[in-house]
Amino acid sequence: MDQIECVIVGAGVVGLAIARRLARAGREVVVLEAEDAIGTGTSSRNSEVIHAGIYYAAGSLMARMCVSGKRALYAYCRDHGIPHRNCGKLIVATRPEEVDRLQSIQARAAANGVDDLQVLSATEARALEPALDCRAALVSPSTGIVDSHALMLSLRGEAEAAGAAFAFHAPLARARVAREGIEIDVGGEAPMSLRCRLLVNAAGLAATTVARRIDGMPPGLIPQAYLAKGNYFSCSARAPFSRLIYPVPEPGGLGVHLTLDLAGQAKFGPDVEWIDNIDYTVDPARAEKFYPAIRRYWPGLPDGALTPGYAGIRPKIVPPAVAVQDFIIQGARDHGVAGLINLFGIESPGLTSCLAIADHAAELAQA
Ligand SMILES: Cc1cc2nc3c(=O)[nH]c(=O)nc-3n(C[C@H](O)[C@H](O)[C@H](O)COP(=O)(O)OP(=O)(O)OC[C@H]3O[C@@H](n4cnc5c(N)ncnc54)[C@H](O)[C@@H]3O)c2cc1C
Repeated sequence: MDQIECVIVGAGVVGLAIARRLARAGREVVVLEAEDAIGTGTSSRNSEVIHAGIYYAAGSLMARMCVSGKRALYAYCRDHGIPHRNCGKLIVATRPEEVDRLQSIQARAAANGVDDLQVLSATEARALEPALDCRAALVSPSTGIVDSHALMLSLRGEAEAAGAAFAFHAPLARARVAREGIEIDVGGEAPMSLRCRLLVNAAGLAATTVARRIDGMPPGLIPQAYLAKGNYFSCSARAPFSRLIYPVPEPGGLGVHLTLDLAGQAKFGPDVEWIDNIDYTVDPARAEKFYPAIRRYWPGLPDGALTPGYAGIRPKIVPPAVAVQDFIIQGARDHGVAGLINLFGIESPGLTSCLAIADHAAELAQA
């Protein structure tokens, strides 16, 4: 049986960042990816927003990873020529009862160390974005957008340059905790067995399934998985905004927001659709709910401007009735299995946080 020091399951942005981090620390790394390329899962089906760290509970992993990950990601993008823009965003209150919530969002952000948010009157907000309709807004200067594919290519390149190897069409089929590490059966096109000292489960939507396939991992510590799809619509009209526009958050998601790609093209979404099976089809009929939601802050959205775009699926680990979840990143101290790290529920802000998550995983790998 081949012996490898570190095996990472999943070549999404999180697995790639961890592979880079460990390989650059001199560890021997193999990345197993079930598909034929990097980043075909949630990492290429998101809003590509560099989040500021506003909404998450103080002290949560999401808050800490997002704020430190944001700083690390901006620096990484600058140093590696990754297309990105620190465009800022407005969180808009469009109803009287939402205005007070802006203050509590600002306070929560400050508790997370994001102290640059400013409350704007409707007039001040319109001075920044003349097409906007709102009663008040919060401006977040540190929010931005990033080319997630360029980021993932760069992470992979650096991981490989530091000696990491990638195996595609190589799903983890089963694993078992043994005396000398963890033994892994790899399925796919070229089945094989490996033994490793460190197994990092960064399988995204499949992370709970992968954990259940590891004999020796206590099943009671594996969360239940739920799927919350987020549908996006593209906009054929030019959206006259230079910042991202978000409503105040709704349960389960951040509300139907306007994000821009690096070419300035607007898209809207994601909404929240709880589903039982992975399905990325966007139902055109959902546009009926998007028009009124968007027109609350952009009354000028023309009829017929929305066309189905794409969808991503949030790897939830709490049921619909529970609004808040945190990332779960388990090491040996949590589950008692030496050399196993599980990453569960890495939904938004996982892209923003990827470099911070990689540092955290590297620390757990030392413990
Ligand atoms: C709708 C939506 C919008 C979002 N918007 C943002 C945003 O604007 N900003 C932000 O910061 N975050 C955002 N996120 C979150 C972000 O996209 C994710 O946190 C991040 O992409 C997760 O990356 P990952 O590597 O954990 O998972 P994934 O990208 O899903 O990668 C997991 C990989 O594991 C592989 N795999 C699965 N099973 C196996 C197996 N058995 N063996 C081998 N490989 C396997 C899969 O093929 C996949 O490639 C959003 C998420 C969603 C759903």
